[in-house]
Amino acid sequence: MTERITSAARDAGRDPAELTTIVVTKFHPADLVRDLYALGVRDVGENRHQEARDKAEETSDLEGLRWHFIGQLQSKKARQVRRYALSVHSLDRASVVDALAQPDPELPDAPPLPAFIQVNLTEDPARGGVQPSDVLALAERVLAAPALTLQGVMAVAPLEGEARAAFAKLRELSDSVRTLDPAARFISAGMSHDFADAIAEGATHLRIGSAITGNRR
Ligand SMILES: *Cc1c(COP(=O)(O)O)cnc(C)c1O
Repeated sequence: MTERITSAARDAGRDPAELTTIVVTKFHPADLVRDLYALGVRDVGENRHQEARDKAEETSDLEGLRWHFIGQLQSKKARQVRRYALSVHSLDRASVVDALAQPDPELPDAPPLPAFIQVNLTEDPARGGVQPSDVLALAERVLAAPALTLQGVMAVAPLEGEARAAFAKLRELSDSVRTLDPAARFISAGMSHDFADAIAEGATHLRIGSAITGNRR
């Protein structure tokens, strides 16, 4: 997989070192996380709070392992994510931003949590993410939140249609977010089947599951 990512980066004229590959371990046991760690993987992702929390606990002895939360958050549970996640890729509404905006009283010294705004690039409002027209307003809200650091934007390509066109749209949104804060320059995009398109459109954080872990479902 590393070779495929490296060659997609070279094809796009990009330095592979700019890319962070997050291995998505959902549906797989904590033992798989140990195996990946032994192979050198340090960034892992989960999309459900309970599963993420349990696996992070089971693997807490693995030094330098970084958990990324990539799934939908409930405002009520959002604060708990801070206890195990290095970053959150799925801020998708004001209530979730507000839930994470202030430091957790139980972790007063924790640094601000790096976070991406998830954008819905489909026609279906029920899919995760904010509408493109609402990205800037949410970005301003994140920038005003003392306990969050805006990293950039995140999206999942629509099931139908061209992934490349969707990622091109995401790149445009990234450009406008960067006018608010040049540091918010990261783009979390690209999964097992569309990572090359995402890399071609500037993705910096790939979220790869089945191509690395195999299918469990
Ligand atoms: C599962 C998941 C991935 C990984 O998907 P694959 O197709 O298995 O690579 C990436 N992002 C999110 C948000 C996911 O839920």
